[in-house]
Amino acid sequence: MFYSSYIEISRSALAHNIAFLKAQLKPGVRFSSVIKGNAYGHGIEEFGQLAYTCGVDHFSVFSADEAYRLQQVLPHTATILIMGYIDDEELNWAITHNIEFYVFSLDRLEQAGKAARALQKPARIHLDLETGMNRIGLNTDDLERAAEIILKQPDAFEVVGVSTHYAGAESSENDDRVKAQLQRYHMAVRMLQQKGLTIRTLHTACSAAVMAYPETHLDMVRVGIMQYGFWPSPEIYQRYMGISTDRSDPLRRLINWKSQVMSLKVVPSGEFIGYGKSFQASTEMLIAAIPVGYAWGFSRSLSNQGQVLIRSHRAPVVGIVNMNVLMVDVTGIPDVSLKDEVVLLGKQGSEHITVASFAELSTQLNYELLTRLPLNIPRIIID
Ligand SMILES: *Cc1c(COP(=O)(O)O)cnc(C)c1O
Repeated sequence: MFYSSYIEISRSALAHNIAFLKAQLKPGVRFSSVIKGNAYGHGIEEFGQLAYTCGVDHFSVFSADEAYRLQQVLPHTATILIMGYIDDEELNWAITHNIEFYVFSLDRLEQAGKAARALQKPARIHLDLETGMNRIGLNTDDLERAAEIILKQPDAFEVVGVSTHYAGAESSENDDRVKAQLQRYHMAVRMLQQKGLTIRTLHTACSAAVMAYPETHLDMVRVGIMQYGFWPSPEIYQRYMGISTDRSDPLRRLINWKSQVMSLKVVPSGEFIGYGKSFQASTEMLIAAIPVGYAWGFSRSLSNQGQVLIRSHRAPVVGIVNMNVLMVDVTGIPDVSLKDEVVLLGKQGSEHITVASFAELSTQLNYELLTRLPLNIPRIIID
């Protein structure tokens, strides 16, 4: 394989995180692995297969193209749920392949019913409720109408679940909003049941809700960021650490992003390094070039700010991050040589570069940085 950097994904770290997360749930609560955004940058195919071997058999994706990629690599015993976008043509494919999907508008419900009748196979749907986020979701009036449509065509629909999503469970600032959402959700579910609908799976919780609001777990939880070893917010992390007797972070990062030293150069004192004049050598410096740049997701905003690891030492980025190359100062690091391993994210020796520190520097959240790791960097599974 040819590549200038690669991403290692750790199987044991994932198994560890899943065990920790499942331990937060009552027995019988189902665990759905959220793998939208190319599995938060980890790679849908690689991560999906790995999670399956770790005992996960329910996956939530955003769109039909993600569901398709996942379905190609997973056995039929895995359940795939589309939480977001699916167009009318994709509905036929989803119904045919037992792919479940959210219904958040009457229009989608009608289209799904039509497709199901034509295929003579029920559409496996989750009614997604508007409870206060005001993004997508059926409001109360639509919901009553939805129940009538479903009850009129019992062969066209299988109502697998009823869902909603919280508008900010990661911060106690939103506490009243989250609690009101849960209350509205329960009222709507009761209404559906009174109308005669049977609902198997009630689900509302994302990672933050799993940790902060146990009452939201219900029949299934949809966990994204935490299975990858990241906390949804510093607040959720601190809260957990406050109630835990163990002093160490219970989550482990799966990702190590690695490259190697491509060129070494001695730069005399007083010279500028890279494009422009943003960095001037104040002494003679040894500069290593790394074949990774913003085209690979290493943000330009880390120019003169970011760090990488070489020979278990931190090496600061000097100058502007280029499209395909960045330069680091290795003056003080003994024995640096061509082809030395460079860690852009993750561990080397006792040092590590976390996405969080990376993100603080470039003022981005973990979620955003991870999902911007490009598709075409190879993902390699390690233990
Ligand atoms: C992304 C997402 C989740 C998972 O969120 P995390 O914070 O990553 O756990 C759950 N449900 C829905 C609808 C989502 O879009």
